[in-house]
Amino acid sequence: MADRIPVAVLGATGAVGQRFIQLLADHPWFEVVAVAASERSACRPYAQAANWVIPGDPPPRVGEMAVHPLEPDLPAKIVFSALPSSVAREIEPAFARAGYAVCSNASAYRQEPGVPLLIPEINADHVAMIPSQRTERGWQGFIVTSPNCTTTGIVMPLKPLDKAFGLRQVFATSMQAISGAGHPGVASLDILDNIVPYIPGEEEKIEAETRLLLGRMVDGRRTEADVVISAQANRVPVLDGHIVCLSLGFARSPMVEDAVAVLAGFRGPDVVRALPSAPEHPILVRPEPNRPQPRRDRDAEGGMAITVGRLRECPLLDLRLVSVSHNTLRGAASGSILNAELLVASGYVDR
Ligand code: NAP
Repeated sequence: MADRIPVAVLGATGAVGQRFIQLLADHPWFEVVAVAASERSACRPYAQAANWVIPGDPPPRVGEMAVHPLEPDLPAKIVFSALPSSVAREIEPAFARAGYAVCSNASAYRQEPGVPLLIPEINADHVAMIPSQRTERGWQGFIVTSPNCTTTGIVMPLKPLDKAFGLRQVFATSMQAISGAGHPGVASLDILDNIVPYIPGEEEKIEAETRLLLGRMVDGRRTEADVVISAQANRVPVLDGHIVCLSLGFARSPMVEDAVAVLAGFRGPDVVRALPSAPEHPILVRPEPNRPQPRRDRDAEGGMAITVGRLRECPLLDLRLVSVSHNTLRGAASGSILNAELLVASGYVDR
């Protein structure tokens, strides 16, 4: 692409915002032209306003940019939103109304009718909701959302297993990294030498978002998948990478080796596989009895692959497995950038 598409990052100073800045520094299609955050950061150079937690320094070009307030007057076509949900609920529609393509990481509009909740390898066809979203709301632009970071690591293996064997029941227990709570996040005195068995709203999000992501498009509308899901979410003293233990029930109980073959062979649709941020293997299957592990597997394929392992029979349901995903990469910024690439490739954003 000769001229890169101008993009802005809202909430650029936070944990997810910093990942956007890191990932977009050398993106072949997108160029960061503006960063925005709260009044606390506005007008300050980005490098001073952001408490940079990623190894190294912010890219110098962005580090020197003055942080904008959250006004929909940025010289961008796409805005990546890494705002708290309460702020996103007010701000994201203002940007969509003003003509921007909003790629949101916040939960504010994930379950809203007409707003795609996207993982491109899973449900790229859900972008078909965008025209009616614009018409019904009278917006020049639109909002698409990325799922909760834990949902992503759950749904990726569920999708091909559902297609092959007919998913009916999911029992999911997560152990979630500290960075999932943003910056500064969980107090060290609460999480070191400890596990906190409660993350507000998380279990409800996992359950509802999984049903939407596995849902089908019927006559231009999204239907929810008919799957019973029970989620339990825990915060653990790991920096990055969420691990989830899954027990699954199916209409047709699979042999373990058949489930392994289905997962290892999974690929997204051709349009997605051609995107710059798409991993070659969205799911990696580890055969070792002690994998996947957050520290060893979260960065697989640049943090874009979900690593699964420990596939075995389940005496309660049909099949058990463990999944690891990188929460601020595939579960947030990288996943959102892949969504934006899909919007360009499918003509919803002009090149
Ligand atoms: P964070 O570290 O707390 O960052 C929040 C960002 O929003 C900062 O840039 C902050 O700017 C800005 N902000 C806060 N209050 C604001 C206000 N009143 N007005 C304008 N800007 C405001 O949070 P995060 O972990 O990056 O999460 C961002 C969003 O992504 C959340 O909706 C979260 O649920 C979602 N998400 C997070 C993860 C994860 O793994 N962390 C994964 C998936 C989705 P200042 O620096 O100026 O305060």
